[in-house]
Amino acid sequence: MFTPTIQSKLPQVGTTIFSVMSNLAHQHQAINLGQGFPDYPMSEELISKVNEVMQKGWNQYVPMQGYLPLQEALAEKIAELYGAAISADEQITITPGGTYAIYTALTTVLQPGDEVIVFEPAYDSYIPNIEINGAVPVLIDLQFPDYKINWHAVREKINSKTKMIMLNSPHNPTGAVLSEADMQQLQDIVRDTQIMILSDEVYEHLIFDNIQHQSVLRYPELMERSFVCFSFGKTYHCTGWKLGYCIAAPQLMAEFRKVHQFNCFCCHTPSQVALASFLKNKEAYTSLGAMMQQKRDDFKTLLSSSRFDLLHSSGSYFVTAGYSRISDEGDKDFAIRLTREYGVATIPVSSFYKNGTDNKVIRFCFAKKNETLEAAAERLRRV
Ligand code: PMP
Ligand code: GLN
Repeated sequence: MFTPTIQSKLPQVGTTIFSVMSNLAHQHQAINLGQGFPDYPMSEELISKVNEVMQKGWNQYVPMQGYLPLQEALAEKIAELYGAAISADEQITITPGGTYAIYTALTTVLQPGDEVIVFEPAYDSYIPNIEINGAVPVLIDLQFPDYKINWHAVREKINSKTKMIMLNSPHNPTGAVLSEADMQQLQDIVRDTQIMILSDEVYEHLIFDNIQHQSVLRYPELMERSFVCFSFGKTYHCTGWKLGYCIAAPQLMAEFRKVHQFNCFCCHTPSQVALASFLKNKEAYTSLGAMMQQKRDDFKTLLSSSRFDLLHSSGSYFVTAGYSRISDEGDKDFAIRLTREYGVATIPVSSFYKNGTDNKVIRFCFAKKNETLEAAAERLRRV
């Protein structure tokens, strides 16, 4: 009899909290404000375009780095938004989602024993992606409750093994955003070092209160050492498309593509062809911040008479909330009870800390139809 003996590459990893909470939501028919995905429809026009290009026969492989007109449309958009001159052909690779772009960038760069600075709470794929490459995550807590980076702590953690610093702005799960001063600090810290940057900017357009997104693409000195990752799923309300892209300097991108070509080769052709023309519709992404800001504000108003204490969110799909006026349970127990007893699923923020730091905070996703937010709030006000 065959007895499988796999030495786990990720011995400490269980099932991602997003699946756990979505399954629990399903089981209890709860309103799902946990996993981050919109419940409102995506653009009909974009759906029609995909349909149309499939009918026209765009159903075979595109080049492994992507469909050139899409790369060109992205380069044009980036020049306009961030003033960066990016080579469509050499510096942009279309990937099956932002998560894949992040994993591929880490795998391209990391050797066993390398250290990567990660700010926690951190999106849950980062640390396993580092560890599967034999590298070591060096963890720094964002300062609770405004979740700012302590740059002094960053300086203290840097040593000859530091290979990379990972950034995420707008930030999941907290909605914190990096400022120009943060970017200057980063620039000063990495100057005269060989440290690279991985910048996760999947929520680039979901930014509120007229704050300008501080993309690494705005900073040529940072850009030469960075991989910047994006997701069409977030921008076009189609998380299930799992399509994104990575931008890096030509030499870095050449190495990225060596990994990418034997893992994925190329991404879904019809979506890329449709997006190449849909990207010309600037309104579709410039209107996003205001739309999502309205949802943030509506949700906050709906919960104003509840016993949840909402923290500030400047971007993303998410807002975090303390519940100390309700319970002193751990956040995982509380989130499970909220799903079972009140029918609202959320994400416990301790899941975004390797050591499970529990500040008694849960994350709500407000990228939902008004009626969903209203129905959820009605339940949450009873807690
Ligand atoms: N980074 C962060 C912070 C995210 O929240 C997400 C959303 N899942 C991703 C990356 C990846 O997005 P995608 O679904 O395109 O892989
Ligand atoms: N990014 C989404 C979130 O944070 C979930 C993505 C996933 O399920 N892996 O909720």
